Amino acid sequence: MQPLQCAECKAQVLVQKNSWEHTAVQWNDQARARCIEIADEREFGRREGRPGSPRKQCGALTASIIAAAKAGDIEIFDETPVPKPIIDDNEPVPAPFH
Ligand SMILES: [Zn+2]
Repeated sequence: MQPLQCAECKAQVLVQKNSWEHTAVQWNDQARARCIEIADEREFGRREGRPGSPRKQCGALTASIIAAAKAGDIEIFDETPVPKPIIDDNEPVPAPFH
């Protein structure tokens, strides 16, 4: 995991980008306290779901992650965007002319 700071609220989290679609973000208490979006949610305490359910993501942080990934600051383990279709190459190859 690599440290990344939210451009908006300066919360520092650990990020691991497994692919363009999948990002793991690890929050610590300090980051949670700093993040405006998450602090907001805690203050008003009206989030959906049961306690302990996954908390809302910080939109600014998500944008920061994407920007960092595009800039090459975050390593992406699998850069393939979509799995390639399997090509059926059973078609007979034309016999060479003699
Ligand atoms: Zn934030």
